[in-house]
Amino acid sequence: MAQPSSKKLGLRGRKVKILATVGPASSSPEMLERLFRAGVDAFRVNMSHGEHATHAETIRAIREMEKRYGRPIAILADLQGPKLRVGTFKGGKATIRHSGHFTLDRNPEPGDETRVELPHPELFGLLEKGQRLLINDGKIRLRVLRANDQEILCSAEVGGVISDRKGVNVPDAEVPIPALTDKDRRDLAFAVAQGADWIALSFVQRPEDIAEARKLMGGHGSLCAKIEKPMAVRRLDGIIELADGIMVARGDLGVELEPQEVPPLQKQIVNKARTAGKPVIVATQMLESMIESPAPTRAEVSDVANAVYDGADAVMLSAETAAGDWPEEAVTIMHRIAQQVEGDEAYLARVRFLDTPPEHTTADALSHACMTIADTVRISAITVFTGSGSTARRVARERPSVPMLVLTPSVKTARRLALLWGAHAVATKDIGSFEEMIAKGKRMALRHGFGEAGSKLIALAGVPFGTPGATNLLHVVTVTGDELNTHKG
Ligand code: PEP
Repeated sequence: MAQPSSKKLGLRGRKVKILATVGPASSSPEMLERLFRAGVDAFRVNMSHGEHATHAETIRAIREMEKRYGRPIAILADLQGPKLRVGTFKGGKATIRHSGHFTLDRNPEPGDETRVELPHPELFGLLEKGQRLLINDGKIRLRVLRANDQEILCSAEVGGVISDRKGVNVPDAEVPIPALTDKDRRDLAFAVAQGADWIALSFVQRPEDIAEARKLMGGHGSLCAKIEKPMAVRRLDGIIELADGIMVARGDLGVELEPQEVPPLQKQIVNKARTAGKPVIVATQMLESMIESPAPTRAEVSDVANAVYDGADAVMLSAETAAGDWPEEAVTIMHRIAQQVEGDEAYLARVRFLDTPPEHTTADALSHACMTIADTVRISAITVFTGSGSTARRVARERPSVPMLVLTPSVKTARRLALLWGAHAVATKDIGSFEEMIAKGKRMALRHGFGEAGSKLIALAGVPFGTPGATNLLHVVTVTGDELNTHKG
């Protein structure tokens, strides 16, 4: 399949980003490079699987590739979170009869077709009659008939084969378990030590969960809250306020809720995150059939396209790239879908259907002005000078018609922005004066394919340079084409 040439890798011809999960099918340096060249902007290291040593190898390979291509790549470490699981069975599995009774108890003896251990003491005395327990991604559905502090007797509304340590979802109850397990804490420390740019927190239930993880991160990396529980949906505003980014984790969300509830919720979550100016990722089963097939279904193509039309910052591949037979093809297809959608003349109007009025700040007023200037005169890019990336996020929130070339002295900021809609970040030396800013903006635009002789650019910055939150300067400049010859750096 055709790949974008390395020369065009800067722009990639789309604003939405692609996040791909690494796993056995993709962890070799060769495959990581093929995925990157096919269109991956950010890699997800899934801490639910694999060993730290393997993840460290993956991260090293990504960082080496980043150096070779001179392009920042985001690494998102996804913590497993407090996933509930049943115990084990005699012979590894058992069959629960439809409409039969099944008991979850505190007895660690291997289970059978009538009972199994539920090794989570906090659930006993919490679950009540009528509440649901969903096992193995909802394939088995139990309803509580009676519960006390020793056992939970259920009727099997849908039975089936249950095996050792299968996952359990309890969508009707708020589980009083910590946001991070001991394993999560070890994994988080590992991810921080490895310089992960984003940490994703699974099974978030409340804003306090974000605050707890944030404390442990000690100022390293950005925090992405995975929305996969009804409790999180109810507290969405508070969670978005505290998180740096949001993932619509449709896998578990579709288990805990009815499947038809997920699409409207996806739109609501994307809209709220966009309004807050926080990157939002649409995840799970986007090209699921490509785990086994080199071509997606029409419905999957529509699903990806709709997420792009909704203005999500990023779309994610899970098992397609982690464990599938066609990882490179999955990325290529996703890239093509995104390019096709963004090439649709109706795309921008659709993305901007969401009203995101600027907040009453100078940064937002100027970000909004960038969008209207680019709609009014022919502009090839918005060059954004930023330390923390905050100005770039406010500009992206406006969903401008042209890409952003983000220039930052912080390689960490540049990497984090790999998940931001429309942003191509370059880590470069800091600037000290207005003249330097203009010269650098033009030079970088030429170098990275964001303009040519005669192109107009918007430059957005804050003076004094290097002052956080000082965005107060917007300038429109024209590139002559000579800038590459007259300046260095
Ligand atoms: C999901 O449930 O959709 C998800 C992204 O989480 P995970 O892949 O970790 O189960």
